[in-house]
Amino acid sequence: EKEELKKMVGVPTKTIDNRHVELAGNIGTPNDVEGVLKNDGEGVGLYRTEFLYMDRSNFPNEEEQFIAYKSVLEGMNGRPVVIRTLDIGGDKELDYLKLPKEMNPFLGYRAIRLCLDRVDIFKSQLRALLRASIYGKLRIMFPMISSLEELLRSKEILEECRQELINEGIETDNNIEIGMMIEVPSAALISDILAKHVDFFSIGTNDLIQYTTAVDRMNEKIHNLYNMFNPAVLRLIKLVIDNAHKEGKWVGMCGEAAGDDKMIPILLGFGLDEFSMSAISILKARKQINSLSFEKMKEFSDKILTIGSAAEIEEEINNILK
Ligand code: PEP
Ligand code: MG
Repeated sequence: EKEELKKMVGVPTKTIDNRHVELAGNIGTPNDVEGVLKNDGEGVGLYRTEFLYMDRSNFPNEEEQFIAYKSVLEGMNGRPVVIRTLDIGGDKELDYLKLPKEMNPFLGYRAIRLCLDRVDIFKSQLRALLRASIYGKLRIMFPMISSLEELLRSKEILEECRQELINEGIETDNNIEIGMMIEVPSAALISDILAKHVDFFSIGTNDLIQYTTAVDRMNEKIHNLYNMFNPAVLRLIKLVIDNAHKEGKWVGMCGEAAGDDKMIPILLGFGLDEFSMSAISILKARKQINSLSFEKMKEFSDKILTIGSAAEIEEEINNILK
């Protein structure tokens, strides 16, 4: 089977009726670029920068960050790289950032909320990203956005950083795509408005499932309730894709669902433009997508949206995959 998959290296990702989608890899460190290239990822769809901040005793400075981002952009050799700004809090803690204990960390002071409060931390990352932008094709993405105000404020701070660098005589790329994650239902529900202010969305199903269904993604006791086939989650995904497309924007997905062979046919049918997954899943996903008909999956996914139970949806998918 491994040999079979190797044959997919260098092959374009497109359905039998010629719908092209982008297959990208998720990475946590610059070293992971190698795996994405080996598996012929067409880009990096999610670089989780929080690993740069973890397992150390203080914040990485601008220079350290710049070196890491530059290395990833150069390593990908012109292929697009989505770098997500700091997504700390929730399940990811920093020893050196003492934060008060929270009753509901996943609903608390985390990710973009923390960055918009601690603008000093945010700015050092944004400056590093802007400086690195000339070394490849950078896409900047904000995590956990739950309102229009947060998105606009994030973009404003990014512009401030750009202006600072220009004043310092430092070159930055003028064509950086700016996007945001859709992980919170409130963002999905106003995605028609948000789409006017971004170049792309990337759907984070790991969190979107948790917030839509009120099921803690870490809680083993209710793991059976944490389900990517939940019809409410699927409807939100479809809504986000349609809203973005109406504004001419593209939509990716970087949650676990993007690499799941049962989800891929539905996501394809919904019109998802980019799938980002762990590197080892890329060639398998390409093989599957290249065997499917976009038109048929569109019909199939429309039908899926009329079903009210996750178990039934999964059964329908099992049937069509047979
Ligand atoms: C997600 O929520 O789906 C996601 C990709 O982000 P993380 O898993 O890092 O929370
Ligand atoms: Mg998330």
